[in-house]
Amino acid sequence: MKGGDMADKTLFQKIADGDIPSEMLYEDDVCFAIRDINPQAPVHFLVIPRRPIPTLNHLEKADEDLVGHLFTVAAKLAMEEELTDGYRTVFNCGRHGQQTVNHLHLHVLGGRQLKWPPG
Ligand code: 5GP
Repeated sequence: MKGGDMADKTLFQKIADGDIPSEMLYEDDVCFAIRDINPQAPVHFLVIPRRPIPTLNHLEKADEDLVGHLFTVAAKLAMEEELTDGYRTVFNCGRHGQQTVNHLHLHVLGGRQLKWPPG
């Protein structure tokens, strides 16, 4: 590895590369899914593109298939997690959206009655 590469990785790249241990719920060439370390619902997992796109605002036209894929994977995993009464998908974006990890990720939350609007 070149010097500096490790430091340049995002948290989620470190998890994908096994530098930080985390159980993989799902993996393919484009994305992977892990359980959130600080779950906000009985089921809370993240679907994450391997490419470290920082935020929704960094998406380009060519990424539209990728974003669709993230949702398709989210729905498949939600059914595997037996979220048959429904669930919520969220992309937090930026400071007001309370995004804390600058590597795009789709939250999937379920297993309890969720409230609206969120705080
Ligand atoms: P954000 O706040 O950026 O929308 O979401 C980041 C999420 O990543 C948070 O819900 C947080 O709990 C989760 N998270 C932060 N560090 C780790 C970690 O090391 N492992 C896992 N599995 N999740 C993490």
